[in-house]
Amino acid sequence: MKLFECQGCRNTVHFENSVCVACRRQLGYAPERGTMTALEPAQVNEASPALLAAVGAPEQRYHFCANAAQGVCNWLVHESDGHSLCRSCRHNDMAPDLTVAGNRERWARLEQAKRQLFYSLLLWGLPTPIIGEDAREPLVFDLIGDVHSDQGVKTVLTGHDFGRITLNIAEADDDVREQRRVAMGEPYRTPLGHFRHEIGHYYWDLLVRDGGPLAEFRALFGDERGDYDQALQAYYANGAPRGWRESFISAYATAHPWEDFAETWAHYMHIVDTLETACSFGISLKPRHVANDHLEAAVDFDAYRADRIERILDAWTPISVAVNSLSRSLGQGDVYPFVLSQAMVGKLSFIHRLIGEQRARQTTRAAA
Ligand SMILES: [Zn+2]
Ligand SMILES: [Zn+2]
Ligand SMILES: [Zn+2]
Repeated sequence: MKLFECQGCRNTVHFENSVCVACRRQLGYAPERGTMTALEPAQVNEASPALLAAVGAPEQRYHFCANAAQGVCNWLVHESDGHSLCRSCRHNDMAPDLTVAGNRERWARLEQAKRQLFYSLLLWGLPTPIIGEDAREPLVFDLIGDVHSDQGVKTVLTGHDFGRITLNIAEADDDVREQRRVAMGEPYRTPLGHFRHEIGHYYWDLLVRDGGPLAEFRALFGDERGDYDQALQAYYANGAPRGWRESFISAYATAHPWEDFAETWAHYMHIVDTLETACSFGISLKPRHVANDHLEAAVDFDAYRADRIERILDAWTPISVAVNSLSRSLGQGDVYPFVLSQAMVGKLSFIHRLIGEQRARQTTRAAA
């Protein structure tokens, strides 16, 4: 994620902001511009008081996403767009029950993570069809909580099913999520991590299953045609096989090739987006008292557009060691508690090429 600049006063602003703390102008993220945008009232004659103009580009007029009124979104919709909801919120199907105390705050936290997800998807030009756009598999989100009734509790499971991503909003509660993380023996569990994992399943469908490089996928991740439910049951009964770290990013990735792909996809997103942040801050590393140079890095490139995966991974290893060390100095655990094996480099490279090819197709389409 980049740092942004208020067009009104040049103050640094962040992706999460909806007001510039320096000049008090309203701010929103305009996905088609790929930037946080400072706003002022638009000079329009007709009755559209909600319309705002971009500071410095008054011909660009926007309204806030309809979910801004709920306090859960800071994205903008261009006046020519025709939707009331933004590029992230328009994928929602089932929203949480706002009569339940705390659900609005939980929803806001999940939508924040979901916008971070969409930030990357839109930068890459990955397909994000909505219902009604004549897509075989539209991308839909259900962000809902367990249903309590006289018959008991109907548990909502986080997962992906043919374009529908469900996330239990209890995952927005730190205590619940941490309890589950420990119970499942996971080193890392965040709402953003869930979204990046589940969207990996979605893009497996679109970019691998539907005419993609299936044979290459099977060579790297294994044959996905085995029984999925049985594979998961076996994983929960027996855990990951010994030595899994040599070939997998997480224990859960060993459960089934689809899970391996989704885990790897999520890590690719973690790595690229974090490197964009590092680049935006101008971070470079040159450790003292280190004889060899494997911890040196200059993150002076756009990781979202990097041609070679090596460039990304050469920067990532030192950056991840540094952020983990900074985190430990603050008494926290490692923020990136993973090690990338050589096998993982091959898998990440596969994802890198899938996304790169998609981006190239998108660029060609846009040019035509
Ligand atoms: Zn400002
Ligand atoms: Zn929105
Ligand atoms: Zn999964």
